[in-house]
Amino acid sequence: MQAEFPGLEPKPSKADPLDILIATMLSQNTTDKTSYIAFQNLKNNIGTWEEVLNAPISKIRNAVRVCGLTNQKSAAIKNLLKQLKQKHGELSLKYLDKMSNDEVYKDLLQYKGIGVKTISCMLAFSLGRDVFPVDTHVHRIINRLGIVKAVTPVKTFEQVKDKIPDGKKFLFHTLLIRFGRKICRAQKPLCGKCRLYDICEFSEKEKYAMLSSAEPVENNFIILEHV
Ligand code: SF4
Repeated sequence: MQAEFPGLEPKPSKADPLDILIATMLSQNTTDKTSYIAFQNLKNNIGTWEEVLNAPISKIRNAVRVCGLTNQKSAAIKNLLKQLKQKHGELSLKYLDKMSNDEVYKDLLQYKGIGVKTISCMLAFSLGRDVFPVDTHVHRIINRLGIVKAVTPVKTFEQVKDKIPDGKKFLFHTLLIRFGRKICRAQKPLCGKCRLYDICEFSEKEKYAMLSSAEPVENNFIILEHV
């Protein structure tokens, strides 16, 4: 089944886990574009993570300002680098390779500004682990469907992480993201075109079904056929 979706399976990438972790920290509450610019600013204007650690906080703030939450993000990055250096003697997350997913969550949750979504993204995109990152989109969809009832993405993650079969977690995440872009959109979901309509528990689905019944749709069976 996964062969039908080349690129959706998590694979260990060449990306350094510390790079991915910091890039994901920068991506909170902003767009991919601005967080990418902030990451490039850190690398181009300051240099290695060792140089970022030794740079004045004002310089780190200037580098990441473009992606918002400047003070929190710059302090969290500085704190992460400082503690990594103190604990491990180097600025590297290679020690995570030998840890289970649960051990990685426990280890990295100790750092301020790093949450389960950030850790999940690093696990999936750098270490190739089969995990289920819950961002606002995944949170929205599975709560609308009624799979869980949770008020925050963190609580959704806690409720759902052990319910998805091993080997399907990251694929399910990826398909939900695609489903959220095309059908179960944050604004004006296409409930009138949705194959999950009958089982969905979203209280406003009838209203959005009427609004979306005339809208064209590319593919409305993404989840049903492929998970
Ligand atoms: S019926 Fe509407 S709210 Fe429910 S999953 Fe489909 S698009 Fe989302």
